[in-house]
Amino acid sequence: MTSHDTTAPPETDTAPATTGFADLGLSDAVLKAVRDVGYESPSAIQAATIPPLLAGRDVVGLAQTGTGKTAAFALPILSRLEVSQKKPQALVLSPTRELALQVCEAFEQYASHLKGVHVLPVYGGQAYGVQLSALRRGVHIVVGTPGRIMDHLAKGTLDLSELKYLVLDEADEMLKMGFAEDVETILADTPDDKQVALFSATMPAQIRRISKKYLKDAEEVTVENKTTTSANTTQRYLMVSYPQKVDALTRILEVENFEGMIVFVRTKNETETLAEKLRARGYSAAAISGDVAQAQ
Ligand code: AMP
Repeated sequence: MTSHDTTAPPETDTAPATTGFADLGLSDAVLKAVRDVGYESPSAIQAATIPPLLAGRDVVGLAQTGTGKTAAFALPILSRLEVSQKKPQALVLSPTRELALQVCEAFEQYASHLKGVHVLPVYGGQAYGVQLSALRRGVHIVVGTPGRIMDHLAKGTLDLSELKYLVLDEADEMLKMGFAEDVETILADTPDDKQVALFSATMPAQIRRISKKYLKDAEEVTVENKTTTSANTTQRYLMVSYPQKVDALTRILEVENFEGMIVFVRTKNETETLAEKLRARGYSAAAISGDVAQAQ
């Protein structure tokens, strides 16, 4: 994902020109951090969700990545955080380790003027030691994948008894990855009076049901994502039958000038198969998938 260096809000329908960050009710420290990162005006999802979240309402946000949804939940949480309270006050559930780490980084950026706020990523595949010692020292915000969060809850190493904010980020992705049961268990086993924000790019029946069951009188916000591609990217496609794909790709590689190339395929297996076939044709190609160890 690209980060926006410019001050323009992400590519969505922009909020009415009259709404500035200063009008939303965020704390001074958070506003200062927002100015530091260079955001000029709130994106549509931010303008629509920050006020109800600050008012304590549950929120369902239909928004894709790139709309500014991370700040939409992070800014109100940080504005209302009690820094002296060291048991986790906010839990963000993310479908993947990568997203969890990105969300943590965003929180840390937005918390740059709040002294002593601890944000901890908690995901599978990382040794428990680091997570356990951080949890023992005390953290305010936990951002984690549902499986590992469940493990900590089962072991009694994550105390969510003081939880005030629960965010389900990319809820549809979490369900696709098979986390539905874990997400529901976490929703059910955390304090009743917590505030819940659910963000999802799509609203399948299962998410609709979860939000009906676990969210109270939620404010629903939908933002249209204008799907844009950067102006210097040309898109073309070829319809090729499966057995001819590698030959077609090889022809393209022969005629195109390139230094490096990323080829996306549908399955982990296919990454291996295609890399192998490209190597056999003299290209230096490597497969990357979730099966490759992080260190590698
Ligand atoms: P997200 O949808 O949360 O992944 O955010 C997409 C990108 O938009 C991130 O790189 C953010 O830093 C950036 N961003 C979020 N809110 C704003 C804003 N109000 N103005 C400019 N950029 C923003």
